[in-house]
Amino acid sequence: MTARREAARARHLPEPKRGGVLQQPTDATSRRLFDQARRLLPGGVNSPVRAFGAVGGVPRFMRAGRGAYLEDVDGNRYVDLVCSWGPLILGHAHPEVVAAVVDAAGRGTSFGAPTEAETALAAEIIRRVPAVEMVRLVNSGTEATMSALRLARAFTGRPLVVKFAGCYHGHVDALLAAAGSGVATFGLPGSPGVTEEEAAQTVVLPYNDVEAVEAAFDRHGERVACVIVEAAAANMGVVPPDAGFNAAVAEIAHRHGALFILDEVLTGFRVSPGGWWGRDPVDADLFTFGKVIGGGVPVGAFGGRAEIMSVLAPSGPVYQAGTLSGNPLATAAGLATLRAATPEVYRRLDTVASAIANELDDECDRIGLPHQVQRAGNLFSLFFSASPVRSYDEARRQESWRYPPFFHALLARGVYAPPSVFEAWFVSAAHDDAAVERVLEALPDAVRAAAAARPDE
Ligand SMILES: *Cc1c(COP(=O)(O)O)cnc(C)c1O
Repeated sequence: MTARREAARARHLPEPKRGGVLQQPTDATSRRLFDQARRLLPGGVNSPVRAFGAVGGVPRFMRAGRGAYLEDVDGNRYVDLVCSWGPLILGHAHPEVVAAVVDAAGRGTSFGAPTEAETALAAEIIRRVPAVEMVRLVNSGTEATMSALRLARAFTGRPLVVKFAGCYHGHVDALLAAAGSGVATFGLPGSPGVTEEEAAQTVVLPYNDVEAVEAAFDRHGERVACVIVEAAAANMGVVPPDAGFNAAVAEIAHRHGALFILDEVLTGFRVSPGGWWGRDPVDADLFTFGKVIGGGVPVGAFGGRAEIMSVLAPSGPVYQAGTLSGNPLATAAGLATLRAATPEVYRRLDTVASAIANELDDECDRIGLPHQVQRAGNLFSLFFSASPVRSYDEARRQESWRYPPFFHALLARGVYAPPSVFEAWFVSAAHDDAAVERVLEALPDAVRAAAAARPDE
């Protein structure tokens, strides 16, 4: 027995059968729970992409996560390449995070009064991104971007918001136009329920297109409150900004008296100790955060120049509040995660991402499947496209019908990839060599399944 197989056995994982037919893991309990859920929850889920609509089949109901692994209600184990869509850079149930949450819960789950940990979390964010001078904690990334927009409009006294097609900033009405993530997965133009008046306040531009930004500001410049952009776009698949793109957008916005909002909800404190900004510092007025800063507990934050943040209530007139904002469990989990996120953790995230992304790339090359593996730091994703993808239009032109069989081949081999081709893949520092090896072993069959796919399937 090879060391690798021994390691797999030690983790109670089914050994991959070479050349033989792989036994389909059972999904009977997930199927039953999904049937029940669909009667009580719209689509059976509380966030659309979880329902497996884009890949078909039964979404796996999870009962536990430990380190790099997820365990579903039928007892199947998977190497997790979703990691709760980003927050879990340390993996599931990291002992220090669990201890911090248990300790906090024992002292009370919520007070509706200030706590020391809120200042500590703000300080940790500011230490990592010195361009942030003050922080407001909220409960989700959506709340962070929604509040940042209100603040930008109040501060500038202007109505319009500029965003980029394929960038996702949560389900804020004004930001759903041509959004990524689930909006991309389901091919929605925006969303019913967003009024024309609201939509008319949003200017949507092609990503990575500086000329389009110049043109939009030439036309509407005096009415634009802010531009918001994902620090590196990763909700239409991973589409990194061209060198200098973010800086050029910031410069144009500032030249016209508008604010520049860098959305680091996904990239923040995952792609480097200082987020994407830490790799590519730009002159942003406001930043939004979420995901990693809550360590898997609901949280969000926005922050920036003190002059702007001071306009928020109670120091200024712009109303923003939250019953559970700065919640003790969230701040405990977030602080524990950030404190444990050492340089070694970031090195491991990069190593794991490179190992998987490179092998995916090589495997597609080997069998001649047109593809791109695109990366933004340790975020990466696969496009079934012959040429590099720089915009939402290009992302949508790929052969996305190749993804469902690719995804299910991985799932059957104990690898839980994102259930949509329009999402990034997420790794954690708990992904040890055995977990990575298991992913690498599953890739050839998945790539073959993608190559064999037909558009009408
Ligand atoms: C996830 C995400 C959001 C929304 O955060 P939620 O906590 O899901 O509301 C906003 N912006 C970006 C870039 C994201 O990836």
